[in-house]
Amino acid sequence: MIILENVSKSYSAGAPAINDISIHIEKGEFVFIVGDSGAGKSTLMKLMLKELEPTTGKIYINGKFLNKMKRRKVPMLRRDIGMVFQNFRLLNDRNVYDNVAFAQRVVEVPSKVIRRKVPAMLSMVGLAQKYKSYPRELSGGEQQRVALARALINNPPILLADEPTGNLDPKNSWEIMNLLDEINKRGTTVVVVTHNREIVDAMQKRVITIQKGIIVSDERKGGYIYEN
Ligand code: ADP
Repeated sequence: MIILENVSKSYSAGAPAINDISIHIEKGEFVFIVGDSGAGKSTLMKLMLKELEPTTGKIYINGKFLNKMKRRKVPMLRRDIGMVFQNFRLLNDRNVYDNVAFAQRVVEVPSKVIRRKVPAMLSMVGLAQKYKSYPRELSGGEQQRVALARALINNPPILLADEPTGNLDPKNSWEIMNLLDEINKRGTTVVVVTHNREIVDAMQKRVITIQKGIIVSDERKGGYIYEN
């Protein structure tokens, strides 16, 4: 599903941001990627989305060989990867329904399908009642649920979450992580970049730890590795 083979990425002179990393993530896995600031996590995500090209090494996402992928195919690749971010990135001038529906309109899903799917997805994330609310009227946890609904509405096989609980209190962080777990149990491959030590330790998922561009550990039921 996600394969990196001996991938390195150098931005300029100096140490590479990613240094000879190999990762295999199977369909249906739930994986945490952890590491200090500057470890190379963002670079890794950008490589998976083909926002960056590797200096060396091969990348396959969902059976597609990214190195050789034509530019016009990149939007298709990105449709296979739902994204959520620390700062939610919702459209503040649109309500909850339209934020989610927008992701379907841009890929020209028929209105009839949108009218059926958006409420179903909002129910899945527990926001069926709030479909008319605007992002500013929602708590951080609720905004992240909307972002999740938007990321998942087109049924991507992979969900990539970049610090999804970075702006949330512990209760909302747990709710979002439990939702990610549920989404994973329904079949989506979930990759979560996080600093949330307590959650990583409690959830007992696969944990890939990166330091200075190198994988320092990859454990099947891991915890957060305490550096320093
Ligand atoms: P993380 O997401 O784990 O904080 P990054 O992938 O952002 O780490 O950064 C990894 C390394 O690459 C850091 O040393 C950072 O300074 C460097 N880096 C990241 N982006 C760029 C860039 N656009 N140009 C040059 N160096 C960069």
